[in-house]
Amino acid sequence: MPPASTNGHHGDPTLLAAHEARGLLARREMSSVELTKAVLERITRLEPKLHSFLTITADLALKQAEEADRRLAGHGPAPTPLTGIPVQLKDNISTEGVPTTAGSKILAGYVPPFDATVVERLKTAGAVMVGKGNLDEFAMGSSNENSAYGPVHNPWDVTRVPGGSSGGPAAAVASGECFLSLGSDTGGSIRQPAALCGISGMKPTYGLVSRYGLIAFGSSLDQIGPLGRDVQDCADMLDVISGKDPRDGTSLDSPAGGFSAALKPGGVKGMRIGVPREYLVDGIEPGVRSAFQRALTELERQGASIGETSLPLSDHALTVYYIIAPSEASANLARFDGFKYGYSPKQARTAWETMDMARGNGFGPEVKRRILLGAYALSSGYYDAYYKKAQQVRTLIRAEFTEAFKRFDCLVTPTSPTVAFKLGARTDDPLAMYLSDVCTIPVNIAGLPGISVPCGLSDGMPVGLQFIGPQMGDATVLKAAYAYEQSTAWHKMRPAI
Ligand code: GLN
Repeated sequence: MPPASTNGHHGDPTLLAAHEARGLLARREMSSVELTKAVLERITRLEPKLHSFLTITADLALKQAEEADRRLAGHGPAPTPLTGIPVQLKDNISTEGVPTTAGSKILAGYVPPFDATVVERLKTAGAVMVGKGNLDEFAMGSSNENSAYGPVHNPWDVTRVPGGSSGGPAAAVASGECFLSLGSDTGGSIRQPAALCGISGMKPTYGLVSRYGLIAFGSSLDQIGPLGRDVQDCADMLDVISGKDPRDGTSLDSPAGGFSAALKPGGVKGMRIGVPREYLVDGIEPGVRSAFQRALTELERQGASIGETSLPLSDHALTVYYIIAPSEASANLARFDGFKYGYSPKQARTAWETMDMARGNGFGPEVKRRILLGAYALSSGYYDAYYKKAQQVRTLIRAEFTEAFKRFDCLVTPTSPTVAFKLGARTDDPLAMYLSDVCTIPVNIAGLPGISVPCGLSDGMPVGLQFIGPQMGDATVLKAAYAYEQSTAWHKMRPAI
């Protein structure tokens, strides 16, 4: 049960779950404009400590809140679960007329002329956009320290990282600067920061949510998903953003929505849940391990049958990822040449100089490292040894998961081997940083759905529990995570900031 140190949120509507705030709006106890103003005030108060926003869109938010209030009063289309709810978007998701930087200097000043599909869908649903979330540059990182605009601080302890790369979204949701945010997850960037900030975050099945308008990092791995205070909120948001989009060639032919309808207490009764032994390796902090063991006991108490399984190839997932993701990134980032978008050096005299200076000054060190790694892995003579080999191992990793899902409905693991670490602790050691994602990366390699929910505290910091499902098993992981959450109170914890 949450300790006394977490402050209660009675009386402060900004700390409610979105579905609770929705009740206030529906009963007309509060208007969306009032709720939005309360959130904007909280942003103003907390931003000097957290820095989870790169852009705050107060005017737009108030205008959308007024529209939402009209809709809630019965004018226009029927309200949806997100109508009037203040949300944030990670700043690598394109927003028409609102700066979108991907946390990079090379995109400073870029204002997209169009909305990403997910943004269109949120607008249609009547959500209120309060701003854009800070992130590691081009979503490359696990601590948000690679943002060109400065790091985000963890609301549980501002001397620690919030995780990454969706560090802004996770810190903003955890601290009451918005109810929900959208992140992107290429190797864990939604689930790991959600775990480190004590909230829920889901990476849907690859292809369930359109990537149109998401600034691409590793296109075969990237997926947009929700970060929220609990599973219900994530399901409500997934209902809005999921579904076929002809503008994304990898978008699956799936009907939109239906996820929140799948949630019910006690939903894990009779479920077969697998625990892959490779995910409990050395390097898992004792406090994380014990919180995880307690979660297994709870799931068993609720009637799930827990069995051990083995996914030996998961050990290679990190290696495969650090070939495939940089390879795709090196190709995707070729478009940032100083001509088409954002930063263009005025003092350059030739086209080559423009490109040289734009990329040389515009990209940070981690992005350059990834481009070099990727260009090397794709170069002739090395392609077969690295890229092709990585793709072959990827196929085997996928097959191993498929085999496991013949015996289990879902798998559970810790989300991250450690709780949030101190700012600066891993910045000089890329490998230590990369290891933050050992438990989440295999899920992207195989294109599966995964969700992280809070399952305890270690050293006063939140611990995350990850549920992994088979391809298109999004409803199953949500159902299992919801049942777990509803029998615990960890999702009600709020940092005392
Ligand atoms: N931390 C991993 C990386 O640096 C994953 C990032 C992500 O999921 N976007 O690549």
